[in-house]
Amino acid sequence: MSTEVLSGKGLAALIQQRAQDEARLLEYEGQRPSLAVVVATDDESTHWYVRSIERAAERAGIGCRILDLGHDATEQVLASVLKDLSAEPTVNGIILQTPLPAGVRTDGLVGLIAPEKDIDGANPLSLGRLAVGQPAFAPATAQAVVELLEHFQVPLAGRNVAVVGRSAVVGKPLSLLLLEKDATVTICHSKSGALERYTRPADVVVVAAGRTGLLTGSHVSPASVVIDVGTNVLPDGSLVGDVDEASVTGVAAALTPVPGGVGSVTTALLLLHTAEAARAQARLLEKPALVSGTAG
Ligand code: NAP
Repeated sequence: MSTEVLSGKGLAALIQQRAQDEARLLEYEGQRPSLAVVVATDDESTHWYVRSIERAAERAGIGCRILDLGHDATEQVLASVLKDLSAEPTVNGIILQTPLPAGVRTDGLVGLIAPEKDIDGANPLSLGRLAVGQPAFAPATAQAVVELLEHFQVPLAGRNVAVVGRSAVVGKPLSLLLLEKDATVTICHSKSGALERYTRPADVVVVAAGRTGLLTGSHVSPASVVIDVGTNVLPDGSLVGDVDEASVTGVAAALTPVPGGVGSVTTALLLLHTAEAARAQARLLEKPALVSGTAG
């Protein structure tokens, strides 16, 4: 059978256009949306990724400041920068880019990102809000998976979805978003044992483990729609996902490519979230100040 390739590029362009339209409107009203990305690593692939966000932001008319604090930045310095950005009115969205220097605890730092500027859903408050169905920015990668499935009209209500990976940035928030779409979700991880027990019967399989070649043709069935979230850089510098593309192609119904699948949609969503955050913050400023203590 032939396996349909679910490219993310068309959807990414649509989302990027929405971000650009909103940014134009905001600029017309006197406020250019702006994103700040905090980086503290020498990792080349991370810098490549951050530059790709910067270029996409530029195309969408969204300001983008990269704050490169160096691979030896301390937790105190990172905390102080995040607090300043959270309080800075001209910054609408904040990303704390991983990996961070060894010994730096991510958990405490992401909690310093103001929830209204947390456009990549990193603050635990955002995940908590998602868990109880309250409005919050979802991590862009998790949202990108759901947007891709909806874009290609893959039914989710009442369907079985296997998610491989349970991280706070991808697997867990994605499972919450899929539950909101009425899917029945099975979350697999490194202690789940033979993955094919969960992935073969599933209508949709999402792999977000960061393990090259983890999902093979024997893990899927002819009805499977496979979403590859993994991004692994090979020694030759090329980028591959978690799916063994050669063995899954011809077995599964559909597969997202890497690169050109989830990643491109993720970047576009970060920009859309920044524009949405700027809009929400502008609305708050428009509200008349409450006057107190004047009665009588
Ligand atoms: P992570 O924090 O390392 O989590 C990986 C998850 O995969 C863990 O839950 C782990 O299980 C599970 N896992 C690892 N090996 C496994 C195995 N053999 N069988 C089953 N489960 C296994 O990684 P992450 O941050 O979620 O990222 C996952 C992948 O997505 C990475 O390749 C990352 O680069 C990529 N990513 C892509 C985008 C994008 O926009 N395309 C964005 C973010 C991340 P345990 O919990 O038991 O350890």
